Amino acid sequence: MRFLITGGAGFIGSHLSELLLAQGDRVLVLDDLSTGSMANLEFLKGRKGFDYRIDSIENEPVLAETIDEADAVFHLAAAVGVRLVVEEPVRTIETNILGTRLVLKHANKKKKPVLLTSTSEIYGKSAAVPFREDSDMVFGPTTHSRWSYACSKAIDEFLALSYWREKRQPVVIVRLFNTVGPRQVGRYGMVIPRFVGQALSGGPITVYGDGTQSRCFCDVTDVVAALDQLLRDPAAYGEVYNVGSDGEVSILALAERVRALVDPKVAIKLVPYDEAYGPGFEDMVRRVPDVSKLKKKIGFSPRHDLDSILARVIEHLSTHP
Ligand code: UDP
Repeated sequence: MRFLITGGAGFIGSHLSELLLAQGDRVLVLDDLSTGSMANLEFLKGRKGFDYRIDSIENEPVLAETIDEADAVFHLAAAVGVRLVVEEPVRTIETNILGTRLVLKHANKKKKPVLLTSTSEIYGKSAAVPFREDSDMVFGPTTHSRWSYACSKAIDEFLALSYWREKRQPVVIVRLFNTVGPRQVGRYGMVIPRFVGQALSGGPITVYGDGTQSRCFCDVTDVVAALDQLLRDPAAYGEVYNVGSDGEVSILALAERVRALVDPKVAIKLVPYDEAYGPGFEDMVRRVPDVSKLKKKIGFSPRHDLDSILARVIEHLSTHP
């Protein structure tokens, strides 16, 4: 099959490209390099079945043409990362809503299946962990720009599900939980590459808040394998799936683990949220997925545990500082 990957030069898109090519599929990447990077695609250039265009998904003629060339679409292009969302909310809202609208509109012309990558941020600050796909969304006020990301993705989900219900446009929605692996950068706030980078350069490791907040980290190769299986399965169309690991770790315990693995001498520094993200920032206290729906559908069982994930990131950042 030939797949279009919007946002294919990003961290997750580049791993997805690698998987699809290894399976003998063809890949066309469309990316404007706003947060993605050509460095992520360098090793794929020249591979049989691989092609890319550097352009925005908001360039409608180009988007229409690339969708036309593909059999199905992985729609990954989005404003990502908490730091970017807080610093550039206009870009976040416009990219996420307009981009998805255009992808669905053009895919619908010939009913090309679309996988929409949504986010665990959708559950907001709900305390009802683990989050199931039918759990409530709990957001803060519109004066806190963090929630614009979750709301923009919620609109994307509503739109995709409406295209399915009203027009029978095949869509599957995945809500990605914290996804980690080689080639992820800490610039946009992602905690594991940041901690590993900080530890490798002598510290300190900066833990925001008191570090009792927790997350579940899943290796990107486990995540992209799930995306691939879901888009190929017509029985998944019209459905929403959590994709991630359910192994929970506090951010302080994560910092301690990184320190133990990289350099036991580095300091761990607690940084107040206000200092890290600006005044009024609200963090999620716990974010744990219920992945039973995904397990039932595709037998999902991540191959990498936290130590294996950390080992891969440490290895990558040691060789690509
Ligand atoms: N975090 C941290 N130090 C950092 C970056 C992030 O303590 O240098 C915390 C952040 O406040 C959050 C968790 O790590 O509680 C995960 O952050 P990330 O941005 O990776 O993902 P999120 O789950 O917040 O989307």
